[in-house]
Amino acid sequence: MKIYNTLSGKKEEFVPIEPGKVRMYVCGPTVYNLIHIGNARPMIVFDTVRRYMEYKGYEVNFVSNFTDVDDKIIKKAMEEGVDASVISRRYIEECKKDMEAMHVRPATSHPLATEEIAGMLEMIQTLLDKNHAYVAADGTVYFRTRSFDGYGKLSHKNLDDLRSGGRSLLVSGEDQKEDALDFVLWKPKKEGEPYWESDWCQGRPGWHIECSVMSRKYLGEEIDIHAGGEDLIFPHHENEIAQSEAANGKTFARYWMHNGFLNIDHKKMSKSLGNFFTVRDIAEQYDLQVLRFFMLSAHYRSPLNFSQELMEAAGNGLERIVTCAENLKFLSEHAEQEQLLDGEEALLREADGFRAGFEEAMEDDFNTADAISAVFDLVRFANTHASSESSRAFLSALLAEIRMLSDILGLVTEKQETLLDADIEAMIAQRQEARKAKDFVRADAIRSELLEKGIALEDTREGVKWKRV
Ligand code: AMP
Ligand code: ZN
Repeated sequence: MKIYNTLSGKKEEFVPIEPGKVRMYVCGPTVYNLIHIGNARPMIVFDTVRRYMEYKGYEVNFVSNFTDVDDKIIKKAMEEGVDASVISRRYIEECKKDMEAMHVRPATSHPLATEEIAGMLEMIQTLLDKNHAYVAADGTVYFRTRSFDGYGKLSHKNLDDLRSGGRSLLVSGEDQKEDALDFVLWKPKKEGEPYWESDWCQGRPGWHIECSVMSRKYLGEEIDIHAGGEDLIFPHHENEIAQSEAANGKTFARYWMHNGFLNIDHKKMSKSLGNFFTVRDIAEQYDLQVLRFFMLSAHYRSPLNFSQELMEAAGNGLERIVTCAENLKFLSEHAEQEQLLDGEEALLREADGFRAGFEEAMEDDFNTADAISAVFDLVRFANTHASSESSRAFLSALLAEIRMLSDILGLVTEKQETLLDADIEAMIAQRQEARKAKDFVRADAIRSELLEKGIALEDTREGVKWKRV
């Protein structure tokens, strides 16, 4: 299995530290809002990497954090007049719902920054003891980048250029840094912010230290794969390497994987340009596995442009697979012959070739676009050879194959009835009509039908509210 390693800039054969096991860490979102479709890309991509590794028989320990203390969370908490934890808990819950709807499986562990402060204090102290860090006059602790020889090895950046550029970008208070590239490990609290006690000042951790600490705690000092979006290469991942390797004296991660960016209308997604979609926005129009299919139809390292046309194409592509599976299911339920008929065994052997094509694509740095093509080839083959004359054994084997390959991509081929927001609103309106007409039997029936489909209604003074349960 070959993986493109950002560290070496090459595709490398994957060799795990411990045979049969994979230790993998993916930087998770900062939880101050609903996740957007850009955040969904690393979730979907690295969940697919995990699924494929498991299919190959690896036991995968998959860790992904939630950054639950950060300037943006604190700002939102102040605006709402609540504790920062109220904001972070709320959006962690919402994020988990989106993940589930995109078939992104929960990680083995989802650590929270605020619950790992003790480990961070300990690692910062180690870095101070080893002279890789220093305390400034106001109690800020900085990492001393010049003390770490390998600084810059991941991003392959010219450090001198960065240093001279960085100097002009210093914000107030940062003039206490020894070097423009030094970064914060611990910083003093500001009025009204959450804080923790430490030997240096009452304050909170910098962002980078949390991943170094959680990765070590949940996966050990050396891990196989560390991943995230390409914007994290510098400075976040470069800084994680510096902290972890300086503190532990060991190689932090062997393979560094980074997904390309998701753009809209070929432009960077941004709130100010108004070209910004949350995953929840997309859920109003599509089953979220269409979003998943769309993401996987490109190579994870390529930039990907989001458009309505591509989503429609993804929906149609997915429908072809689902329809074929439904058809095979129907035929096998009605098949008259149990055992394989003459010639069917040879056809099944031919069909194995599609699985080989699928695996070849996935083993070439997770080329999901080509893997999807292999599934389409299998679908075409099934549509050509399956009929009401086929045996149940033949039809079930083809169906099992399509289901298995789809499942590796996180796609469910059994038709599920998912209600779009618009459908729900329409049913609620019908229920209101029924109530107005005092047809309470019908009103209750609509309520029960919605509940069966996972939608709970609540009658409030402001009208009917609904939620997915
Ligand atoms: P953040 O909450 O900004 O730390 O982002 C969480 C994850 O989403 C990180 O791995 C980011 O690299 C990734 N990410 C953010 N925006 C995009 C985007 N437009 N395309 C792809 N990945 C993104
Ligand atoms: Zn991280």
